[in-house]
Amino acid sequence: MRVASSTGVVWRRLAWGVLLTLLALTLGLTANTLRRRSRQPAAAALPSWNIDMPAAAERLAGAVRIATISHDRSPAPAATFHELHAHLERQYPKAHQVLKREVVNGASLLYTWAGADARARPVLLMAHQDVVPVAPGTEATWTHPPFAGVVADGHIWGRGASDDKGSLMAIMEAVERLAQSGFAPGRTIYLAFGHDEETGTAGGQQGAKEIAALLKARGVRLAFVLDEGLLVSHGGMKGLEASIALIGVAEKGYLTLGLSTQAEPGHSSMPPDRTAIGALATALGRLEQHPMPSRSNSVVREMLETLAAESSGANRIFLANLWLFEPFVRRQMEASAGARAMLRTATALTVVRAGEKESALPGYAAAQANFRLLPGDGSRDVIEHARRAIADESVAIAPVGLSWEASPVSRTDGAAFATIRQAIRDVFPDAVVAPGLMVGFTDAHHFVDVADDVYRFTPVRARPGDLARFHGTNERVSLANYAEMIRFYHRLLTLTATDPSLPTLR
Ligand SMILES: [Zn+2]
Repeated sequence: MRVASSTGVVWRRLAWGVLLTLLALTLGLTANTLRRRSRQPAAAALPSWNIDMPAAAERLAGAVRIATISHDRSPAPAATFHELHAHLERQYPKAHQVLKREVVNGASLLYTWAGADARARPVLLMAHQDVVPVAPGTEATWTHPPFAGVVADGHIWGRGASDDKGSLMAIMEAVERLAQSGFAPGRTIYLAFGHDEETGTAGGQQGAKEIAALLKARGVRLAFVLDEGLLVSHGGMKGLEASIALIGVAEKGYLTLGLSTQAEPGHSSMPPDRTAIGALATALGRLEQHPMPSRSNSVVREMLETLAAESSGANRIFLANLWLFEPFVRRQMEASAGARAMLRTATALTVVRAGEKESALPGYAAAQANFRLLPGDGSRDVIEHARRAIADESVAIAPVGLSWEASPVSRTDGAAFATIRQAIRDVFPDAVVAPGLMVGFTDAHHFVDVADDVYRFTPVRARPGDLARFHGTNERVSLANYAEMIRFYHRLLTLTATDPSLPTLR
């Protein structure tokens, strides 16, 4: 009897303990969830401006018609770009009167709009003139031919409409408008339009990189650079009604490793225990099964914390309490390839070459694995990790082609980020703005040496399904969205160059 009753006391105490702990936890979670304040500034009312959209759309359509196609490692002939330059000169006469234009390396463009305050750090807006080719055999599946530049059904159709002639022309529309109104920038504004962004790993070597080198040689230090990047997306997250506009504050690095194995060549009737292909296949399997570790890096954490305040339901509780739910949230993100890419250095097996003849054992087998490096993972770490994962010293491992490290992470607490966020909020009041990580690469990484901060954002709206249009079939931009793009760059330039309440970008 005595034993039973003392056990009862222990159980009762334990039950109370658990109950109190749960209560404290619930209170803590609730407090955290409620305490999440929105980081979104109020949207300002913009001065009314009736953009002549049919005319603006026709100007963009005209740019789409000039087929500035980049192939892997080779941009279009210079003459094609000169055609585009002439189009810009014809369509934006006032801008060409007020800004200085330089052709860099034969086809890239650098415009300078000199500011009144020579001591204020300049800013630079980027876009690229070139476009990707249309995949062979798919041209007939386009609603309108990819280089016809058709304006129909409320859209401007064609290759480059959203990537990236849309941004290029929208920047020029904004600058032309400002120049016509007699606007005089307080700080110098540069526009940099490269011509080889879409040439694969060689992207920007001839254009953006040369422009950055030119600015550096002139002693220019930029307050910030804004290049193409993340988009305004819709319906991408559970528990979040608003659209999400992500500003890329960093981009992943790039590394390709070549793997190769050797073995005695011979007849397939008497195979040895170890073959070149077998050894390579084992190595590739191990590499794929042992990716670099996943972690919610500082960019992803800040993105989630920013979105927490705008979310509702269970998601708000999870995001507002990452200290507890981070592993759970990470597991959710790991389920989608797109979100997973933000959490880890990606490993992609992309090339295998071995064997010629069905009855002959090759003496040599080779493969390539492409890695996209998370900020914080260096290429040396990845090579070391690959060696350990493969655990076979007979497999030769060596970097192939161009590689570069992940970019530095640009600030989210400075004036530059605040200005871009404000311009987005003013033009896209339905969107919440958060920092994000670019998992691909753009021309922007060539500018990290000459700018305090580099941001990557394209004011293009993307609904589920629209992403396939980038580099894919039926690329287009809606007239309504194109008007927003023009307004966005106009707003950004106005805020950057004139707003006295803006902290100085010096
Ligand atoms: Zn692009």
